[in-house]
Amino acid sequence: MRIPLAGITAGVLLGFVLWVGFVDANRYLTDGYPRLALGSLRRSLDVYALGAVLLFALMELTFFLLSRRWKRPHAANAALWLLLATGAAVVSLRLSPWVPRAHSVHGALLFGSVSLAGMWLAWLAARHPRAMRRGAGLARRGLGGFGPAGAALLVLAGVNAAAAFVADPAPRPRLNVLLITIDALRADHLGVYGYPRPTSPNIDRLAGEGVTFRRAASQWPLTSPSFAALMSSTYGHTNGLIRNTAQRMPDRPLMLAELLKAAGYDTWAAVGNVNLARFFNFDQGFDTYQELWRQDDQRKTERITRAGLDLLKQASAERPFFLWLHYFDPHARYDPPKPFDQMFVGDRYFDGSWRVPLNGRQDQDLGGISSKVTLGREDRVAYYVAQYDAEIRYVDQQVGILLEALKERGLAGNTLVVLTSDHGESLGDHNYFFEHGRFPYDDCVHVPLIVRAPGEPRPGEAVRSPVQSIDIVPTILDLAGLPADPRAEGKSLRLLLRGEHPRGDLWDYAFTESGFALDYQRSITGERYKLIYVPDAGNRRIMTGRELELYDLEADPRETKNLIDERPEVAALLKRQLWRWMANGGPAAPPPAEVRVEGQAEEQLRSLGYIN
Ligand SMILES: [Zn+2]
Repeated sequence: MRIPLAGITAGVLLGFVLWVGFVDANRYLTDGYPRLALGSLRRSLDVYALGAVLLFALMELTFFLLSRRWKRPHAANAALWLLLATGAAVVSLRLSPWVPRAHSVHGALLFGSVSLAGMWLAWLAARHPRAMRRGAGLARRGLGGFGPAGAALLVLAGVNAAAAFVADPAPRPRLNVLLITIDALRADHLGVYGYPRPTSPNIDRLAGEGVTFRRAASQWPLTSPSFAALMSSTYGHTNGLIRNTAQRMPDRPLMLAELLKAAGYDTWAAVGNVNLARFFNFDQGFDTYQELWRQDDQRKTERITRAGLDLLKQASAERPFFLWLHYFDPHARYDPPKPFDQMFVGDRYFDGSWRVPLNGRQDQDLGGISSKVTLGREDRVAYYVAQYDAEIRYVDQQVGILLEALKERGLAGNTLVVLTSDHGESLGDHNYFFEHGRFPYDDCVHVPLIVRAPGEPRPGEAVRSPVQSIDIVPTILDLAGLPADPRAEGKSLRLLLRGEHPRGDLWDYAFTESGFALDYQRSITGERYKLIYVPDAGNRRIMTGRELELYDLEADPRETKNLIDERPEVAALLKRQLWRWMANGGPAAPPPAEVRVEGQAEEQLRSLGYIN
């Protein structure tokens, strides 16, 4: 009888301690997230109380079996502690989103101290069996006493009752979330954004059923910094992740999957870009995180879809799901499989007259084509663009399959679908060939953003206000009926989805950071004009030579004519806003320590040309 009682007391205590760590780390209570905090307290207490009861019973059974076999209780005791410590150390590696990660300093400390404590206890049990037994008896009487266990049970019942009452005041149909992200997909190569080539019939259909944001900006036109911003709703200068392939996503701030998991969601992902590997800490909060970048073949895109379809089969009636699928295509190289291969080569939009040199070097992507993206001996820009478009068509087909499956499974009516990309792609714009990340121009910064939200129907509508990737998480939380994350730097787009036109700084501008140097570029985009600030002289040399660039995105969407001298009043207004934003952002956060990539990830990064 004392064993399960001791389990309840210990479980409630442990659950409370871990929960305090979680809440403290994330400042839920002080920042106005009480519903989520109470819900997570309930889960923490329930899970650990149940777990501890089972564990204690198992310990008792193991001890009974071991001592019968060895006839020496202290040897059995020592073995038991070793066993327990090994188990606890393994669990501490990956228990839940709020336990420090194995590969962080915290994680290593936790893992190390749990292992050491276990070994120490095992040593004590072997050397001082009598004292150990007395201690164990004391602990059992203390934890397993009727007083403490009764109090623990009362706390458990009280928290459960309060959470049931407060957490869900009005039960509402829970909203599933499907986030589809497509690597290097520029907005203006989709039909819904006005592209004449038929690249995107399925995405266009989705847009016809939802709302299209016509002016959405990537926070940083490189995969890792873009997703760091998108998933945590923080700017690069806040979260500190500003480079591809060199930094891990920090444990804080909280990411979308962690917030949704804390709110009771099943969280699943399948990703096709090595920059999003577990190694880089992008799997925070996910129950399932499939890394399909390892299979470096033309059919990787189909594998993502298949993973998505398999995960959708697990959708349960009790718990909502969050499914994130990240497609690598149409990222370079542009080599779509049949029947998409060459489908647009030589069509009526194909003009093969622009030829550029093949640079023959991995890292030379200005003024010609670098060796890491060269297709055969091809030097016609139109050929590359046609094949890039064919890859879009290939991914579009996969998106179609996915959305159809959603409908067939009866999930379309209660699933929020968000489609976007991490950045666009420079297809020779600004003399920059088949790459992204270097410049803040719209070919790489302007991304598609389509939202199909059940219960917010304005099918086929378009929104012209500037929005940005960091707005996606607040929008999802808002539509799912969850409280806003107080540390998010983005805003919910719900008002815009409803067709309202709020004004003010928050709604009138989008901000982007870009480049590879620490002295990177910053830009501000309004509904019509964009201002770019280039602090670094090296970058100025390969851009326009000016510190400030101003473009009229309506008259000159390709940003070829710098209006900085012609429209000083527009430039002054945008500059004031940009400076204010930079000042609010404070000095750039110290970037997370650089990491060394090894093994398969290293091979893959090398073959894709991310590292030399
Ligand atoms: Zn990318």
